[in-house]
Amino acid sequence: MNIKPIVAGNWKMYKTLSEGVSFVGNIRKRILDKEKVKVIFCPPFNSLFSIVETLDGTSFGVGAQNAHHESQGAFTGEISVEMLKSMGVQYVIIGHSERRHIFGESDTWVNRKIHAVLDGGLIPIFCIGESLEDRQKNQTMEILHRQIKMGLDGLDFIDPEKIIIAYEPVWAIGTGETATRDQVAEAHESVKSILCEMFDEQSSSVPILYGGSVNEKNATELIETEGVDGFLIGGASLKEDSFCSIIAQVTTNYKG
Ligand code: PEP
Repeated sequence: MNIKPIVAGNWKMYKTLSEGVSFVGNIRKRILDKEKVKVIFCPPFNSLFSIVETLDGTSFGVGAQNAHHESQGAFTGEISVEMLKSMGVQYVIIGHSERRHIFGESDTWVNRKIHAVLDGGLIPIFCIGESLEDRQKNQTMEILHRQIKMGLDGLDFIDPEKIIIAYEPVWAIGTGETATRDQVAEAHESVKSILCEMFDEQSSSVPILYGGSVNEKNATELIETEGVDGFLIGGASLKEDSFCSIIAQVTTNYKG
C-alpha cells in the first residue's frame, strides 16, 4: 500500500481563536499541492469548531490534542470523542509525552483513549517515545515495545488508514535537539516489527511519523530517513513560513 506522507501540527496551548483561524486561512492559500501530503492542524479545543469551518471543502485535516475515553459524565475539564466528532474533528492526538509526563497519563489510560477514538470513528495519532534516561540506559526499544503493546492492547487488527503512530523521543520535544537519522530509522523499524508481531502484515503500512524539534533546516534529512512517513511538529507548526517550508520539503522529498 502506498502511504501518503502526513504533516501534523500540534499547537499545544498556543493561539487564540482569531489567531488560529487567520493562521489556517493563510496556510490554506499558500499550500497548493495538497494531493501529495496530508496536512493536519491540531489546535487547542477553543478553536476546533471555527477551524473546521475555515477549512471546509479542503483536504486539510483537523485534530484534537486529547480526548476522554468515556462518552459523557462528571469529568470536569474533559471532552469526549463524540463531542469532537460533532464539531467535524477527524483526528485525536493520544498519549503525547506532555500528557504522559505532566498530566500523569498511564499506558492504561492511553489504551482506553485509543479504543474510544477508534470506536468513535476518529483516527488516533498515537504518540510513543523514550525519555533521555531510558535512552541512556539502553532501554529505548523496550519502552517502545511496552508503550505499543499496552496502548494497542485489546485490538484484533489495525487498519493502516485508521491509525497513525508518532515516534517522539521525549528528549527531542521542544529542546532543539533532534534524534539522528540512525536513531530515527532504528526506532521506526522497531515500531514496524512490533506492529507486525502483534497484528498482520498489513500493519507495516501504518504511517509512522517522527516528532521532536523538526524544523525547516532538518526536515529534508529527516523525511529522507528510512521508515519516516511524515512529522508531528510542535514549535515549527506555529509559524507560517516554517510550517509551509516543512510541508514543501515533505512533498518533494518523501519517497515512501
Ligand atoms: C510535539 O509537540 O509533538 C513536538 C514534537 O514538539 P516540537 O516540534 O516543538 O519538538
